[in-house]
Amino acid sequence: MSDSLDSLREETLVRIDSSRNEAEIEQLRIEALGRKGRLTLLLRGLKDLPADERPRVGEQLNQLRQLLEARIEDRLELVKARDKEKALREETIDITLPGNRWERGRIHPLTAVIDEIVDIFWGMGFEIARGPDIEDDYHNFEALNIPKDHPARDMQDTFFVTDGRLLRTHTSPVQIRTMENRQPPLQVVVPGAVYRHDDDATHSPMFHQVEGFMVDGDIAFSDLKGVLTHFLKQVFSEKAGVRFRPSFFPFTEPSAEIDIQCVICSGYRRNAQEQHCRVCKGSGWLEIIGAGMIDPQVFRFVGYDPERVSGFAFGMGVERIAMLKYSIDDIRLFFQNDLRFLRQFG
Ligand SMILES: [Zn+2]
Repeated sequence: MSDSLDSLREETLVRIDSSRNEAEIEQLRIEALGRKGRLTLLLRGLKDLPADERPRVGEQLNQLRQLLEARIEDRLELVKARDKEKALREETIDITLPGNRWERGRIHPLTAVIDEIVDIFWGMGFEIARGPDIEDDYHNFEALNIPKDHPARDMQDTFFVTDGRLLRTHTSPVQIRTMENRQPPLQVVVPGAVYRHDDDATHSPMFHQVEGFMVDGDIAFSDLKGVLTHFLKQVFSEKAGVRFRPSFFPFTEPSAEIDIQCVICSGYRRNAQEQHCRVCKGSGWLEIIGAGMIDPQVFRFVGYDPERVSGFAFGMGVERIAMLKYSIDDIRLFFQNDLRFLRQFG
């Protein structure tokens, strides 16, 4: 009896100390102390012992039961504590790890150029207006003195939509819409997208213009010249030369095209052997703005009296200015959303 008690104690204690999880400990408890456990069976065997031995052996069995229960309880706590510690360690947030990178966006080069252009005019007291991209024939052509059979319509390959509507071919209809609804004095710039059926390295079916106009009682060509010269020197260079050439637009009379000295070569070749500049084709000048005094016929369309008001209007291509500012030779780069291109700006 004594031997089997000793071996039960030693064997069970060793197994308790080497148990690694709650399931193993529970298994041990059942094997020793369960209904058919080894210690339980020994306790049941007490009744078969001689009466004078029972108290002593009973005492020993009870002590062993208390010992095993206590050791099992301790081991269980230890294993639970270890499991918890392990879980906590695995859930710990390592704040020294690099975080998710927050990609910082950039202003698209065209938006940046539009903002810059508008800012310069804002500084001269111009306000900003916008109009619909889908226009009617009247505002896009008719009221701008471009009647149905006018050859100038051929210059603007138009995208027609249903119901006689079209995608505006220039920002000029906003000039009409503004004058229809308001009275002079007016000093307005109109940035926006325009659409023409054209697609190559220097033309895009959708591109951007900034339109502007100034109308009051006594606006003269010298006002046009002063405003646009100031603008060009601001947007390119104070030193750049500016020249005005006579031109034709149906909605202005007289009309002018305004050039700036070539931003690449300034019109000079270092020697006779040097190739002509690719950007200005050797002329030394770059055409930037179309402008002129608003045609009296346009004023009549919007209900102004051409005897009492005068004004000038101008328009420019945003992509062209951006291409010259940043030496970009293909307009399509602006619309391909290639991050390698876009990341160079801003
Ligand atoms: Zn040049």
